[in-house]
Amino acid sequence: MARIFVTGGAGYIGSHVVKALGEAGHTVRTYDNLSTGNRWAVLFGDLVEGDIADRETLKRAIEAFRPDAVMHFAAFIEVAESVRNPLKYYRNNPANALNLLEVLQELAVPRFIFSSTAAVYGTPETIPVRESDPLCPINPYGASKMLVERFLADLSFARDDFSYVALRYFNVAGADAQSRIGQCYKNPTHLITRALKTALGEFPKLQVFGTDYPTQDGTCIRDYIHVDDLASAHLAALDHLLAGGGSDIFNCGYGRGYSVRDVVESAKRITGIDFTVEEAPRREGDPAALVADSSRITAQLGWTPRFADLDVIIRTAWDWEQVLKRKLVS
Ligand code: UDP
Repeated sequence: MARIFVTGGAGYIGSHVVKALGEAGHTVRTYDNLSTGNRWAVLFGDLVEGDIADRETLKRAIEAFRPDAVMHFAAFIEVAESVRNPLKYYRNNPANALNLLEVLQELAVPRFIFSSTAAVYGTPETIPVRESDPLCPINPYGASKMLVERFLADLSFARDDFSYVALRYFNVAGADAQSRIGQCYKNPTHLITRALKTALGEFPKLQVFGTDYPTQDGTCIRDYIHVDDLASAHLAALDHLLAGGGSDIFNCGYGRGYSVRDVVESAKRITGIDFTVEEAPRREGDPAALVADSSRITAQLGWTPRFADLDVIIRTAWDWEQVLKRKLVS
């Protein structure tokens, strides 16, 4: 069993990975500034409250823990916000990741797993997109993650004692099957969460951003992946590095695309609520279609998804939204 230091472990994806690490018997320490994360979301290990920009606190927390690997989730994640406020993204994503990597080099931490994104591809020329396809982000969020991938490639090339895996996430959704944890943002912008909160009456209507894309029904296509399958991808990447595997990059998706209208239909069916939907203009920075070719992670890491079904994703997210609503009221 290994010792894993997790930045952003109190956030949505990080907390599901901390859960998976803990359940697998690893020793975990979460480092999180709680800006979007929550203390209650950390189900295993301890939590050090700190910012990745605060180098001294970060270094102390890592040094005392002596990790075998670091998993780095702490980052900003909203495409539209990154278009409006790019420097906020370049500061927190690449600049603070650089801080972290320098600290890891000083402390000779040998392994790193990075939360990257399908947004590094921009608008892919071919679908499904492969890891070897060109990186051409069309928004600052994707560019900020691409920069970190470059840091990692250069660092691992320069140093024999450092290896990494970058996981390019497609559209992560869903929640813990027991509804202990799930997405909890002050201003949720992601489609499935917005749709379910609209069903719950927290928003008056769901807007569909763009109905004139060159897709079958005119709305954007995305590859939705359940957060617990994404968590198991991190454990597979960790096992790979612990076994001496080399640096690598993998897509994390199911290889199946759904349109915004498909998601709306599934959300209405599962909730049994015919919430209001309004057609709206395109949102800045959105590519028409993003679907993963996920054959590499399956073949190389033996990753086997367990929740590859849009309805299952939406059902777990719906169960969670109801628990969350009670949690926030009480
Ligand atoms: N979307 C939408 N209405 C919303 C939120 C999102 O139509 O309230 C669309 C968005 O334009 C994109 C897709 O849903 O085409 C997925 O967006 P999301 O923000 O969930 O994830 P992203 O792909 O930006 O990471």
